[in-house]
Amino acid sequence: MTARRVMGIETEYGISVPGDPTANPMNLSGAVVTAYATRQGIRSTRAGWDYEDEAPLRDARGYDLSRAAADPSQLTDEADPTLANVVLTNGARLYVDHAHPEYSSPEVTSPRAAVVWDRAGELVMREASRLLSPPGAPGVNLYKNNTDGKGASYGTHENYLMRRSTPFADIVKHLIPFFVVRQVMSGSGRVGIGAESTRPGFQLSQRADFFEVEVGLETTLKRPIINTRDEPHAVTDRYRRLHVILGDANHCDVANVLKLGSTSLVLALIEAGAVTRDLTLDQPVTTLREISHDPTLRTRVKLADGTSMTSLELLRSYQEMADTWLTKTYGDGPGDWDEDTVQVMALWEQVLTGLERDPMSCARQVDWVAKLTALEGFRARDNLDWSDPRLRAIDIQWSDVRLDKGLFHRMAAAGRFDTLVDEDEVRRAVTAPPEDTRAYFRGQCLARFPDQVAAASWDSVIFDVPGRPSLQRVPMLEPERGTKAHVGELMERAHSADELLRALAVAD
Ligand code: ATP
Ligand code: MG
Ligand code: MG
Repeated sequence: MTARRVMGIETEYGISVPGDPTANPMNLSGAVVTAYATRQGIRSTRAGWDYEDEAPLRDARGYDLSRAAADPSQLTDEADPTLANVVLTNGARLYVDHAHPEYSSPEVTSPRAAVVWDRAGELVMREASRLLSPPGAPGVNLYKNNTDGKGASYGTHENYLMRRSTPFADIVKHLIPFFVVRQVMSGSGRVGIGAESTRPGFQLSQRADFFEVEVGLETTLKRPIINTRDEPHAVTDRYRRLHVILGDANHCDVANVLKLGSTSLVLALIEAGAVTRDLTLDQPVTTLREISHDPTLRTRVKLADGTSMTSLELLRSYQEMADTWLTKTYGDGPGDWDEDTVQVMALWEQVLTGLERDPMSCARQVDWVAKLTALEGFRARDNLDWSDPRLRAIDIQWSDVRLDKGLFHRMAAAGRFDTLVDEDEVRRAVTAPPEDTRAYFRGQCLARFPDQVAAASWDSVIFDVPGRPSLQRVPMLEPERGTKAHVGELMERAHSADELLRALAVAD
């Protein structure tokens, strides 16, 4: 694998009702899922993730979505919002996690596609916010960020398919140093130092201050740089799904593609045994924070071997190892590398060169630089100290999903960022699944036979077809099967779920 591999992004959105700090975030999040699902005509909760076997599906409780349509705010008082869990026709999952609405993108095979379907999720949230904010009401605001600035943090998880045969110890060893410095290219920036922003200042990453250990299973307490969660949602002895909880939610296409692409390449190096330099750090957790707290990028990182390097030098090492390995494995002629890898390597070079010259020169590509530039503008104009609450408010407003309110979106409309994905493509991705993974089959089943899909999960679709005595599970344990190339024609020919199951040879 290269920069290309099966991957997906989960984003938990920040949620609030302006002027009502007592609003229950769990209920609000349930309302977000419900309102959107209702508008899309998704009529039943598809809680396939929560059920190991088929039996409970028949009587699974769920929202009465027809009532949500009438008045979403009423509904959440009665229903259990933790049950709000739907699968969209684009193959994504929309649900409530840790009292936040979460959009988990469908599986894609490239960093660029991951960004397309991640941005589609933002359109989903924008629409939900609009539905829940009728004129005259305070409305529900949603934020694509990772902390409220007051001590709460919520995640943006990356997921990468890896070979099970790669020793986990290698992943831990070679990924930790990379993850500690990756924020320099892809941090989203925030106002305040410390988990509760007790010290004034600006830092590169939203998440760094919330990480306490190097390796562990937790995702909301004692957060680890490497998460050991091991649910592959695929053939277990063949695959691992690496669950990365350390990253920030990105708005900038360049930073986002680069975050996923460079990580995928470092994983490729690890899989190939091609990490030729031991970059083990002396104190990864402390260093993670130190790097985050230094927008000048001058901090030197101490390695276990007693030497030290800057974060940019460390990133260069990884980039050079990737370049050497790609050249050795695939050649160095035009067309020797797949186009996603070419793109990622070009962005990696461009961003590192920019940051080396002057970090502030990357304001069109890197979120934290863009945010810091904007904040410095406000500071100079109004003579604001870093402790001024207005700067914290601007930080939150940066990631508001609404086009007219979100600062990022207002600046994007003014052409202030390099884009790698066009808006039409993102709009299509709100309803259309990626065509080159099993998300295609999942999404098409929901688009064509919504009434016959009892539940869907990453690795199966469960049908409830009239006339068939039991539920029928179609397993999808291979993420790269069930693509348009595999099942597109079959899908076109099937006029009912029953015909589809017959074509797939699923007996009743
Ligand atoms: P939690 O929300 O508690 O972290 P989770 O990590 O299991 O749970 P989901 O919200 O269900 O996550 O999202 C799973 C993500 O992983 C999705 O974005 C999906 O596209 C992606 N994914 C699913 N299977 C694989 C796989 N085998 N390899 C890589 N990515 C995968
Ligand atoms: Mg999730
Ligand atoms: Mg997750």
